[in-house]
Amino acid sequence: MARTALVTGGSRGIGAAISKALKAEGYNVAATYAGNDEAAAKFTEETGIQTYKWNVGDYDESKAGIAKVEEEMGPIDVVVANAGITRDAPFHKMTPEQWQQVIDTNLTGVFNTVHPVWPGMRERGFGRIIVISSINGQKGQFAQVNYAATKAGDLGIIKSLAQEGAAKGITANAVCPGYIATEMVMAVPEKVRESIISQIPAGRLGEPEEIARCVAFLASDDAQFINGSTISANGGQFFV
Ligand code: NDP
Repeated sequence: MARTALVTGGSRGIGAAISKALKAEGYNVAATYAGNDEAAAKFTEETGIQTYKWNVGDYDESKAGIAKVEEEMGPIDVVVANAGITRDAPFHKMTPEQWQQVIDTNLTGVFNTVHPVWPGMRERGFGRIIVISSINGQKGQFAQVNYAATKAGDLGIIKSLAQEGAAKGITANAVCPGYIATEMVMAVPEKVRESIISQIPAGRLGEPEEIARCVAFLASDDAQFINGSTISANGGQFFV
């Protein structure tokens, strides 16, 4: 029977590429989004992938949304916690609101997405948790104290879940993309983007599909012994 995968933020950018890659592998895919109804509707029309709207930063909304997905598509076997935002500012100008918004979405959002599916995965003896972290969680980044803190926190989450889930057939891993050609990166001024590219030994931005292929592998049966790991996909920009 086909497995079911949930991809948060799965209707745009890297998440959309992940949703499509998992669908191509035969999964039933549910893709969530926050509020961009137009992009979500277009995505469903183009791919046939069902989209669901909730705020990953809200536990009750996440729990109710996940219950709806499981009712309509069956138990969730694979969770890709991908939804993320930036609210950049140098630390001396960063507001408590900018800090909190990013914590709520990128860090608490992972808890809110994984916690409701965890008991079912334990009972069924199979699960895949894949969190989309970032190169900037590994190395830090100017004007991203909030973002880097959440993305480093995501790595702590998967390392701990890996230890708790291993005996129950659940793996938890992270992918740390470098700079990928999505709206998030294309929104920065061209000059800044050029300077970013000049720091990437590969001489180009990554493609969302390159991240999606890492995720599809981590979700597969072949990746059962990979647990608590971080795959860096950054064109040679940073090593750990
Ligand atoms: P995009 O901005 O292109 O898409 C973000 C997605 O997340 C959208 O579907 C958006 O929904 C959804 N989302 C945002 N906030 C919430 C929320 N509160 N609740 C539910 N869904 C939400 O992002 P990218 O594809 O660029 O990034 C995807 C992930 O990859 C993020 O975690 C990001 O930090 C990480 N990453 C990205 C890199 C890059 O270079 N692009 C590099 C390293 C990591 P909606 O469409 O409704 O707005």
